[in-house]
Amino acid sequence: MSWIQDRPRLLEAAFGATQALLRPFSRRLRRGGWVERAFVAGEKLTKGPLFDCRMCGQCILHSTGMTCPMTCPKTMRNGPCGGVRPDGHCEVKPEMTCVWLLAWERSKAMPTFGPEIRRVQPPLDRRLEGSAAWINHATGDAERVPAGWNS
Ligand code: SF4
Repeated sequence: MSWIQDRPRLLEAAFGATQALLRPFSRRLRRGGWVERAFVAGEKLTKGPLFDCRMCGQCILHSTGMTCPMTCPKTMRNGPCGGVRPDGHCEVKPEMTCVWLLAWERSKAMPTFGPEIRRVQPPLDRRLEGSAAWINHATGDAERVPAGWNS
C-alpha cells in the first residue's frame, strides 16, 4: 500500500495518536496471555497490509520514515548497504526501490519523528520476533540493548 506510505505526515500523526492512547495503560501491559495475543493479531491486521510488517517485535517505523526496514532484502536497520544501484533500486531485488532511499525521503516530511532517522539502531533481538511491538515498547523489552552496546 505505497499510497498510504507516501503520506508519512498522516502516518506520523496516527502513530503519535496511538502512542498517546496507549500511554495510560503502558504500565499494565505484559507479555504473554490473551492481551499480547490480541495485540499481535491487531498488529498483523493493521501493520501487515499497511507496511508489509514482518513482526520483528521492535518497531522502528517512526524512526525510518514510516517505512519498514525489515522489507529490505538484507534487513538493514541502519541505512542502505553499499549496493544501491545508480537508479536508486535494490541490488538484491532490482525491481524494488531501495527501502532506505524511501525511508530517507519520507522522513523529511515528518516534523516530529523524522529526525530520528539519524539514530543508530542497536542490533535486533531476534527473540522478540512474532511478539507485539507495542507491548515490547511498554515493557522496555524493545529498548533493551546487548551488553557493551554503545551508540
Ligand atoms: S519495524 Fe518490525 S514491527 Fe515495525 S513494521 Fe517493520 S517488521 Fe513490523
